[in-house]
Amino acid sequence: MRLGKHVSIAGGLDKALDRAHNIGCNAVQIFVSNPRSWQAKPLAAEVIKKFQDKQQELEITPVVVHAIYLINIASPKDNLRDKSLQALITDYQRAVTIGANYLVFHPGSHTGSGSKKAVKRIAAGINKLLAKIAGDTTLLIENVAGAGTQIGASFGEIDEIFDLLDDPSRVGVCLDTCHSFSAGYNIAEEEGLNTMLRKFEEEGPGLDKLSLLHINDSVYKLGSHKDEHAHIGEGEIGEQGFAGIINHADLKTIPLILETPWFDDRDDDPDVKLIKKLRIEE
Ligand SMILES: [Zn+2]
Repeated sequence: MRLGKHVSIAGGLDKALDRAHNIGCNAVQIFVSNPRSWQAKPLAAEVIKKFQDKQQELEITPVVVHAIYLINIASPKDNLRDKSLQALITDYQRAVTIGANYLVFHPGSHTGSGSKKAVKRIAAGINKLLAKIAGDTTLLIENVAGAGTQIGASFGEIDEIFDLLDDPSRVGVCLDTCHSFSAGYNIAEEEGLNTMLRKFEEEGPGLDKLSLLHINDSVYKLGSHKDEHAHIGEGEIGEQGFAGIINHADLKTIPLILETPWFDDRDDDPDVKLIKKLRIEE
């Protein structure tokens, strides 16, 4: 099982790998720029080397980068959309530079301009980015809870984006369990989980495009369209829900990333421990 957690890069990019390793992870997710700022200075060569040496030493894979939160490449406002694409390009460039396997981003919100146009803007942005920067980092579209005018709570919308891509081989999907649940898929139960996976296959881009799972419990109820992550077993999906998810035949080979809050003791993460306990290895 590849299991990681979103960890801080405070003190240097390579410190994130130590943090993940210290809590028993063999995968990691990080921000490579300030998630709440548009500004980003280039990464120094020594920073990159330190990171890659440590990654090899600790055998951490995959390395996942999460794009900054401000990005909305679906925006009808030219200014915000251009800024967003530039920030996504910067994050992608950095992800490629450090040798990250994946860059995850949220598709964005149409803010009243309608889903169809927004889907076109998202696909156009992805096409521009991938034409501009070569690299082995796969860009992952994350599903969302569907608050307000967000794109990407429905698998059909994600599929529409894929249909407009020039090179879909460089793009995949990250499913977040909290977002799926609050979007209305009852993945806390086996039947609901199977329904979601069938819909992803039939209406979405298909299971061969599913590259990553964000595993978070949900503070809010099924179909609430609210996005707040809870510790595993402490939310509405629950411990048994996660046992079903992480041991499902279709999901067993997919890397798992926790995006749950940090615990005070930084060498001991109950979420990591619980997922390991729930996992059935053949
Ligand atoms: Zn997520």
